[in-house]
Amino acid sequence: MRATDPQILDAIKKVLREDIVIHSQNELFEKVRKKLSDKDEVRASAERIRRVAKKYGVRVQVHSRKGKEIKTCPFCGKDLQDIISQDLFGRSTTIGKVCRNCKFEIGLGRSPARYIFRR
Ligand SMILES: [Zn+2]
Repeated sequence: MRATDPQILDAIKKVLREDIVIHSQNELFEKVRKKLSDKDEVRASAERIRRVAKKYGVRVQVHSRKGKEIKTCPFCGKDLQDIISQDLFGRSTTIGKVCRNCKFEIGLGRSPARYIFRR
């Protein structure tokens, strides 16, 4: 059975009651999965857990690394927009990408490497 948002959130809260910081998406996934399967066979993907965490106000810090640019927001799936900045000579250059929906930002030419979750 697919877990509902409230079920996932509940499991995330239980995990964050025990640990102040979760250092990666995989760690959160493993721990949340254990809490979820306490009851029935409910399932949720790592990506879904990440999205639910962010959506309901868990503090998520994103570490990035050089890599393939992402086109859509890792939290809400909306298209990312260019962040334009003017250089010293008044020329416009793109310095990064931003999600207008949830304010996720990432530098140009970088991709998310690690997600840190906090209580
Ligand atoms: Zn977003």
